[in-house]
Amino acid sequence: MGFCVNCGHQHHDGVRFCRFCGTQQPSEQLLARLRAEAEQIRLLRMQMQQGNVQDNAYARLEVMRQQAEDAARLNNQQNQNYPPGW
Ligand SMILES: [Zn+2]
Repeated sequence: MGFCVNCGHQHHDGVRFCRFCGTQQPSEQLLARLRAEAEQIRLLRMQMQQGNVQDNAYARLEVMRQQAEDAARLNNQQNQNYPPGW
């Protein structure tokens, strides 16, 4: 089961649109990536709270953010048709 990203109503996994408000739901792939990302950030935060943080923790977060952006861009490119003559 998942929850609508807009109105919060519960719906079955894999639905593309919320049947209450019609908002398009993120794909399972995207959700999985976001969950993994959130988990990494959570672990980093825990390290910070425990005082184990290396000075480069922020830099690592920044690198992860960049990687997520790159992945999103790649995704977009794959969804586009190649131009004629490719
Ligand atoms: Zn909704």
